[in-house]
Amino acid sequence: MRFSYAEHFICDDCAKTFPLGLLNACPECGGLLETVYDTDSMRRELKRDVFSARREPGFDFGRSLWRWHEFYPVRTPEAVVSLGEGDTPLVRSRAVAKRLGLKDLRFKNDGLMPTGSFKDRGFSVAVSFAGEHRCRRGFTYSSGNAGASFAAYARCADLDAIILVEYLANPLKTAMINLYGTGAVRLDFTGMEEITTMLEEADRTLGLYQFVNFLNPVRHEAMKSYAYEISEELGWQAPDVMIHPIGTGGGIHGAWKGFRELAALGWIEALPRMVGVQPAATEPIVRAFRAGEQSAGKHGDPAATIAQSIAADSPMHGGRRALKAMRDSGGFAESVTDEEILEAVRWLGEDGICAEPSSAVTVAALKKAVADGRVGENDRTVCVITGNGLKQPSALERAIPKARHSVNANIRDLEKLVETLWGRDR
Ligand SMILES: *Cc1c(COP(=O)(O)O)cnc(C)c1O
Ligand SMILES: [Zn+2]
Repeated sequence: MRFSYAEHFICDDCAKTFPLGLLNACPECGGLLETVYDTDSMRRELKRDVFSARREPGFDFGRSLWRWHEFYPVRTPEAVVSLGEGDTPLVRSRAVAKRLGLKDLRFKNDGLMPTGSFKDRGFSVAVSFAGEHRCRRGFTYSSGNAGASFAAYARCADLDAIILVEYLANPLKTAMINLYGTGAVRLDFTGMEEITTMLEEADRTLGLYQFVNFLNPVRHEAMKSYAYEISEELGWQAPDVMIHPIGTGGGIHGAWKGFRELAALGWIEALPRMVGVQPAATEPIVRAFRAGEQSAGKHGDPAATIAQSIAADSPMHGGRRALKAMRDSGGFAESVTDEEILEAVRWLGEDGICAEPSSAVTVAALKKAVADGRVGENDRTVCVITGNGLKQPSALERAIPKARHSVNANIRDLEKLVETLWGRDR
């Protein structure tokens, strides 16, 4: 068995191949790069039980997404930078499942990651890969979560980082980036196309290695681990429906790639329907999906929604990869309003989950899909909870009513409170 079965990069658009290395977009045509694996050898040499056995003590990288290292482009174990990302709980819903009349609903709770969001999957693999290819400097742009994650992993890898953070990012996220020892640089702009254009030009002119989703061909490879972890936990079956928030679409695209790999290896039989969710205030990919288009244009106002982490009005390369994942899988796209999102935040609380609004969108979309029959009571469904609600405290305060009672620290007050709330009959 090899540490990695990755072979080379291939361009989505011109199909030219390139050796694994510090490339962003395709040097020939500017298309996006994808990693190709030696699937024939994988089918012969890999046994799925080996991966489950690595959950036991003794595996070099603990319980992390590195259990599946054969499926990533990092070729040397020494290059791995890990903080224990991945292998998050798949929590069975009681409250939301009951509300919606679903037999089997689960939450993949990535709010429990080292920096509180699913971005850690991508940065662990991308920073490890970059280090393996002797990258010393890198930069990314972020609405907050990617910045915090990149800052943490870059610090652990001694990589010099520039992190451009949207002026809309909340102060807590910026503070987290600074905590890891990388200065967050405030990024002002009038429209997000300016950012996309700047990033694509940076690739052509500055020669800086970028960690921006999709321009960096490695980050989304790590999102395949959703498919591995969830299928394994369901007894080597994919769920019927997977619901992801969509910002760039790296999460949904990566997970879909992972499920297809497992099917190609014969480890799972059926594939899930992939569902992507955006905020109604800025829903370019949802609109393109509904219109049957291959590529999304610009739509909406990123400042007009509480779902900060997925508020994007001009998707990289037209969101084509996300559109393809939803279409090829027989899934769909949905958008939800802030009001629907806040209700979903409260509902998740009933199941013990503290979610960022950008993650609660999955539950808000599920409610709509159940109402019109796109998801049925027997569909085994997984909502990906991509970020921890603690990362956006002001949204929690908006979602939940303020405490209505207060007491002084004495037994009289306490007794009165108990009586007020529960009556005399205990
Ligand atoms: C970045 C982010 C997303 C969007 O992920 P993409 O891969 O860009 O689609 C969703 N939720 C949270 C909490 C995020 O930080
Ligand atoms: Zn190309």
